[in-house]
Amino acid sequence: MGITLRGVNYTYQEGTPFEGRALFNIDLGILDGSYTAVIGHTGSGKSTMMQLLNGLNIPTKGDVQVNGVTISAKSKPKSIKQLRQQVGLVFQFPESQLFEETVLKDVAFGPKNFGKTTEEAESIAREKLALVGISDDLFEKNPFELSGGQMRRVAIAGILAMEPTVLVLDEPTAGLDPKGRRDLMALFSQLHASGMTIVLVTHLMDDVANYAEQVYVLEAGRLVLSGSPQEIFQKVDLLTEKQLGLPKITAFAQRLRERGVAMDRLPITIDEFKEVMRSWTN
Ligand code: ADP
Ligand code: MG
Repeated sequence: MGITLRGVNYTYQEGTPFEGRALFNIDLGILDGSYTAVIGHTGSGKSTMMQLLNGLNIPTKGDVQVNGVTISAKSKPKSIKQLRQQVGLVFQFPESQLFEETVLKDVAFGPKNFGKTTEEAESIAREKLALVGISDDLFEKNPFELSGGQMRRVAIAGILAMEPTVLVLDEPTAGLDPKGRRDLMALFSQLHASGMTIVLVTHLMDDVANYAEQVYVLEAGRLVLSGSPQEIFQKVDLLTEKQLGLPKITAFAQRLRERGVAMDRLPITIDEFKEVMRSWTN
């Protein structure tokens, strides 16, 4: 059934002197099992939109549908709770939300809170910790004794422990070193391959090119562009004007094109670039 946003508006602190409209008439769809990227400058409304997907924000106007659950300004807490379970939201720096005294307890907290017994919850927690690559010897440690990358994995395991069907990732690799970033991206790719719907907010165009199937571009609270990464990254002038950047290999190919190298389409991944090179030697 996927996710649909229909005419969604979101205003912070409506009716107060601090009122601020963050999203304007957003219509979009996200297919079940797809990998969607959301890009746009700081303040364009990405995080506001991600929080609408899991019911942390409720639309001021319009509605959000997730797997048959509809959320609008009139929704009851029960359907919002349903949405929270379906859609796992990984914030930027999710490790700041760890709070239990052991890693295992922290990850088991969510399922326990949603009605599982301690044993069931801890069994789910072990499984999810293994999935994110946290070894057993760390389960009884205090989360704050772990490295930054490990803490982030524990936080993500805590979200996976709710067994969501959709995983929303708001700049999930911010602040990690290149290896930590690659490993996490590989984990999300694996979750996607196992059938999970992935929504990724990022400013890394290489990640968009390498992983996403669909891209939405936000600008000042409005949806201004959408399409596959291949389509989006052909619009070099538009993206340059919007200062959104290109995948590294696309920028390189574009410079070649400017120097007279003919290319029907700009490659967006290394594999696509290799194909372009093969066509030169044929
Ligand atoms: P992004 O994630 O793309 O950087 P946000 O969704 O965080 O954008 O912000 C969109 C707009 O909403 C910005 O103008 C921002 O200042 C405003 N905003 C975000 N969070 C709040 C909040 N809690 N209260 C008031 N305004 C907010
Ligand atoms: Mg944000």
